[in-house]
Amino acid sequence: MANSKCHIKTVYDSGARAEKRYSGDARNVTRLLTAAALPCIDDDPNAKVIHALRPDTVESFIAGLTSAQAAYVVGSGFAGRTQELLLLPGPAGIEAALIGLGHDHSHHPFGDLAFRLPEGSWKLAAGDFDEARAVLGFCLGAYRYTYFKSPRRAPATLVCAGHAAAQAQAISIWMARELVNTPANLLGPTELADACQALAEAFGAHFIRTEGAALEAAYPTISAVGRGSDRPPVVAAFTWQGSTAAADAPLVALCGKGVVFDSGGYDLKPPSGMLMMKKDMGGAASILALARIVMEADLPLRLSVRLGCVENAVSGHAMRPLDVIRTRRGLSVEIGNTDAEGRLVLCDLLAEASDEGPALLVNCATLTGAARVALGPDLPVLFCNDDEWAEALLAAGASETDPMWRLPLHDGYDSWLDSPVADLNNVSGKSHAGAIIAALFMRRFVAPGTPWAHLDTYCWNDGNRPSRPEGGEAPAMRAFARAIADKLLPHLAAHSGVAVAT
Ligand SMILES: [Zn+2]
Repeated sequence: MANSKCHIKTVYDSGARAEKRYSGDARNVTRLLTAAALPCIDDDPNAKVIHALRPDTVESFIAGLTSAQAAYVVGSGFAGRTQELLLLPGPAGIEAALIGLGHDHSHHPFGDLAFRLPEGSWKLAAGDFDEARAVLGFCLGAYRYTYFKSPRRAPATLVCAGHAAAQAQAISIWMARELVNTPANLLGPTELADACQALAEAFGAHFIRTEGAALEAAYPTISAVGRGSDRPPVVAAFTWQGSTAAADAPLVALCGKGVVFDSGGYDLKPPSGMLMMKKDMGGAASILALARIVMEADLPLRLSVRLGCVENAVSGHAMRPLDVIRTRRGLSVEIGNTDAEGRLVLCDLLAEASDEGPALLVNCATLTGAARVALGPDLPVLFCNDDEWAEALLAAGASETDPMWRLPLHDGYDSWLDSPVADLNNVSGKSHAGAIIAALFMRRFVAPGTPWAHLDTYCWNDGNRPSRPEGGEAPAMRAFARAIADKLLPHLAAHSGVAVAT
């Protein structure tokens, strides 16, 4: 982003190491990990004004214009409908912009302004909208993945004083998108773990890296998944505590699937299914975004974060169909399909995390195509063994315009995981209910009594839409942050720094 005012610090240089081995490109892989500010935010005193109008406020707005301007607006047919944009001329060129909000009260109507408005600084005039949501939408829409290709233009910038929660949420989502968009030749397990470490250290968290023989002993299932790759698996973990959190503050445990590339293993994916698999670490990236939102808000909580960073590759060392793995939990798993590796990556992490007795255990994973068949790309599937948590999450998804939809952990399908030789199979022999079967598999590893939310998510925007640029995405993480604050810190919720608007 070409903005001299931005303070992006490129402190993360392990990409150079990856590039030396894999591409020869010497630049850094991942920006934005510890960026202090968004490059689309500005403080220019001469910024032009954006008037955000609804259909019923257009008339009174026009009444305050010069007669020439009023005639121009009327003649243009501007009616305050969603997605309408009109640049208003003045004596010295463009004087202001009018945008239509229609009846949309979410952040989306502001989510395409960064690239529809001319380059330069803009500021919002007060109007019938929530300014924090406007800032969020503007910032979410200003992101592009520009690492390899210079953009044709810079985003317009927004003058914004305050709205720290909105800015912190946007920068957290930018960070996750950047990780997802980074191709797998540059982002291997080590580089994903390095990203986790950079974030942890930026927030004073205690980082723990487990690899090699220690990983094989502590996370045998992750080790099995990663065996086929030249780039060995890493478990990246950190613990963090808010600056005002007591030693017994609620613990939230977060686990992410960080499969940096999923070939499917011996059960190789077809080209169309393999194409997008650089995004198979989207769960890990999303978890980092959620952790960052919580840490930026300095919520009085404790976090424990675990990412299984691993590549599912094909080689003479790769795990085979009908191999049997002894997991961390002690359960034996027969490999019915090497492409169902995400649940294997998560099962060891869930076992360890749930044994800590967290107030909430969250995992996030690009887990099943079946979840996409059921709900499409925009609605992550929520599985939750606790109705109160499920309600809080769905309510936060609605209030933050960051939705998800719940599917059941249907006990009746549990026996579909039976194996003749092991405690369970990693897949079912039936073709139905794939997302539920994956969730039921993972439930076997969650300690009884642990409130657990599993998000099966797509982590990708197939095209450009307001506030959702094409490419990597971290859906539902703003909602999770809101629900965590609402449920665990109800006395703080209104000021928790994770609710963009109330
Ligand atoms: Zn897979």
